[in-house]
Amino acid sequence: MNDQTPPRLRHPEKARKPDNPQPKKPDWIRVKAPTSKGYHATAKIMRENSLKTVCEEAACPNAGECWSQGHATMMIMGDVCTRACTFCNIATGKPPEALDVFEPGRVADAVKKLGLNHVVITSVDRDDVEDGGAEHFAMTIRAIRKQAPGTTIEILTPDFIRCDPAVLEVVVEAKPDVFNHNLETVPGLYPEVRPGARYFHSLRLLQRVKELDPTMFTKSGIMVGLGEDKQAVHAVMDDMRAADIDFLTIGQYLQPTPKHHAVDRFVTPEEFAAYEKAAYGKGFLMVSASPLTRSSYHAGDDFARLRENRLKKLGMA
Ligand code: SF4
Repeated sequence: MNDQTPPRLRHPEKARKPDNPQPKKPDWIRVKAPTSKGYHATAKIMRENSLKTVCEEAACPNAGECWSQGHATMMIMGDVCTRACTFCNIATGKPPEALDVFEPGRVADAVKKLGLNHVVITSVDRDDVEDGGAEHFAMTIRAIRKQAPGTTIEILTPDFIRCDPAVLEVVVEAKPDVFNHNLETVPGLYPEVRPGARYFHSLRLLQRVKELDPTMFTKSGIMVGLGEDKQAVHAVMDDMRAADIDFLTIGQYLQPTPKHHAVDRFVTPEEFAAYEKAAYGKGFLMVSASPLTRSSYHAGDDFARLRENRLKKLGMA
């Protein structure tokens, strides 16, 4: 990428061939239009606080439901990502600006205004920043703790692959309640789907979080319907358990625009139920697997169950 690169280039090389049409969306994927009063109230707070959300940037199908309850997943560090994952709708290119030091305060203010029990904070990848944004995440966690002390915090981070490994400690020391980093897909699809990332680096990152703080919940997710097979999904689950990951999410991949990676197939609700059962069998504390599952979908309710499941496992509930 050079300085002449337009900042909002959207995967021009990934145009789908016209002789290879998309499979038709099944009924179980349809969602309600975002029209509720709660939806507009959430949107107003996001605008007033000049915040970006992954809900909008990634064109999440659950926005109508989530925003009606104030559940917006704020996306920090701008809206231009330095990676070019072929599944993702977020603009990619050279970010136009340095990190905004006032953003953590605005995020915390929004969390307070929304009155959230649990919040999910995510970000774009900022490979142009020396620590990948680790300190910015830590500042955001601290700001929320100060302004909204009753809110539990889940972070969904980049992989910090180009940074000193010690930057991870900065984030862990800020003590989020849940540390999430998505593997996104099976390793065989990484070159096509997540070309700037490395499967085993991402796994190791999550394992390292647990080593740094064994009490911290770790979470990761994959999308299915990208072209993977069942054995590969089971192998990812085994790898995640070997890395001591507590919480697994599996959802259907949806193609945001015709220029993105094509949907290979729509996985049926029965297949999702089978994945969920298998994952519990492999020892995850918590599993969410359904067509519309996303990392942050029902994250607050799931966090409550995650805590309960840990207590049960420890024989304390
Ligand atoms: S599932 Fe997550 S990303 Fe999608 S609308 Fe809900 S909170 Fe936003």
